[in-house]
Amino acid sequence: MIYLRPIGRYDSPSGVIYRLGSRYRKTLNANKSDRMEIKDKVDILDQMFTIYDDFLADKQVACEKGCDSCCTRNVTLTTLEGFRLLDRMGKAQHDLLLSDIRTREGNERFMPRLTINQMAAMCAQGKEIPEEENRPEWGSCPLLTDALCPVYENRPFGCRCMVSRANCAQTGYADMDPLILSVNDVFLQYIEHIDALGYSGNFIDILLFLDTDQNRHDYLNSHLNKPASETGLIPNHPVQVLMIPPEHRKAVAPILEAFRSIRPRG
Ligand code: SF4
Ligand code: SF4
Repeated sequence: MIYLRPIGRYDSPSGVIYRLGSRYRKTLNANKSDRMEIKDKVDILDQMFTIYDDFLADKQVACEKGCDSCCTRNVTLTTLEGFRLLDRMGKAQHDLLLSDIRTREGNERFMPRLTINQMAAMCAQGKEIPEEENRPEWGSCPLLTDALCPVYENRPFGCRCMVSRANCAQTGYADMDPLILSVNDVFLQYIEHIDALGYSGNFIDILLFLDTDQNRHDYLNSHLNKPASETGLIPNHPVQVLMIPPEHRKAVAPILEAFRSIRPRG
């Protein structure tokens, strides 16, 4: 049930695509710079998550501690989010998590073939977005422990953005405010953008990828030598167009403005 991508909302591309003004594009280009260190990108991510928490603060959500139906093994994330997560884990937690993941590595899971920025670009060109199989029955997130998330503070955006107005366990689905869906898309697009030199993929595949010294070293040096095609991951892309329906543009504007004011804090 984890929210990944609102396929149904690509039906009218011309109504959804929001072309970026030159001022905003300039900020975006600065943020995907390959000269920016990973620690600065992680800092940008932290500031984005604060902006998202502020956005959600007055929204009606039924989510609460111990509510875990959305914690499936289909969560996707970027290498930047995976790096941030692994970097903030203690050694004991890291070893336990990775050994657990390795024992279940072969299990079925959602492995995306397109990133959200690729989909946005296709949408802008009027191309159809292919459906991808993504089933909650494939099981729970490998981290979930006694209905709680052991990395809650450092969870990726794919987990943060999953919110519902009603308890999903009772309704059988997530009841998501359409504005939140639009805002989620903007965050997902921007996160991929600042990690444009990295990869995206399933939670399990990203963590396994980053768990080798060579891949971590290459990632820290902004130059991944292992082709994505050999890893089960997909290369990230910079933002070209944002997907914001006309009815949400006014409400999303303050978030875009907040993004523009983010600076790495050194
Ligand atoms: S209400 Fe739904 S989205 Fe919110 S925490 Fe529970 S299962 Fe997850
Ligand atoms: S990382 Fe945490 S919040 Fe995300 S799916 Fe796993 S247990 Fe749930």
